[in-house]
Amino acid sequence: MKIIIYGPPGSGKGTQANLISNYFNLKNLSSGNLLRNEITKRSEIGIKIKNLQKNGLLIPNIIIYTLIKYYIKNNKNIILDGFPRTLKQAIFLSSLDINIDYIINLKIKNSTILKRIKYRLIHPTSHKTYNIIYNPAMIKDKDDNTGDKLNNRDDDNLIAIKIRLNEYYKNNINILNWYKKYKNTVININSENKIKNIFKKIKKTLI
Ligand code: AMP
Repeated sequence: MKIIIYGPPGSGKGTQANLISNYFNLKNLSSGNLLRNEITKRSEIGIKIKNLQKNGLLIPNIIIYTLIKYYIKNNKNIILDGFPRTLKQAIFLSSLDINIDYIINLKIKNSTILKRIKYRLIHPTSHKTYNIIYNPAMIKDKDDNTGDKLNNRDDDNLIAIKIRLNEYYKNNINILNWYKKYKNTVININSENKIKNIFKKIKKTLI
């Protein structure tokens, strides 16, 4: 099974991708997390992209393709989170000759996104995300599994989020139309709900 989880920043893609990948045993491939790993490692790529990501700007395709191609080609069962983000990337994905079974399209209001992002925390090593209000850690500011300190994401600030939202709205119609044109199954999910209710709905459509 190959799935794309799609939606604006803060719509819960990462959280749902995690739940889906555990339940259906899929490789969870988040382009944003791959990039954050490079930044943490201070690799050549990481140094190049740090400021772009921090400012909410898209990373050049050549870097993204290099990072994700291997995983896409070598995993039969995969959920893609954060890729494709543009029509060009969707066309590139199709050129790899793999069949996408479902596009899960998360729908959410901008006002909810802003609330979620304001209170979002992330565990830098595992990339597990929390929300101080909607999905708090068991111990305040500490990762449930390791007890490590949780951080804010560098790009979860008002200026970067506006740029990320613009980027999303500039591309979303083209991407969804691309998949509809090729008769891929697009599943629309209302992402205003609670995490477990959203997951229940997704699960029901995928089983
Ligand atoms: P995400 O974790 O999906 O919210 O992505 C965080 C940031 O990583 C984005 O704002 C971009 O700077 C970068 N990024 C992630 N995925 C892509 C992609 N497919 N193409 C370009 N940039 C990306």
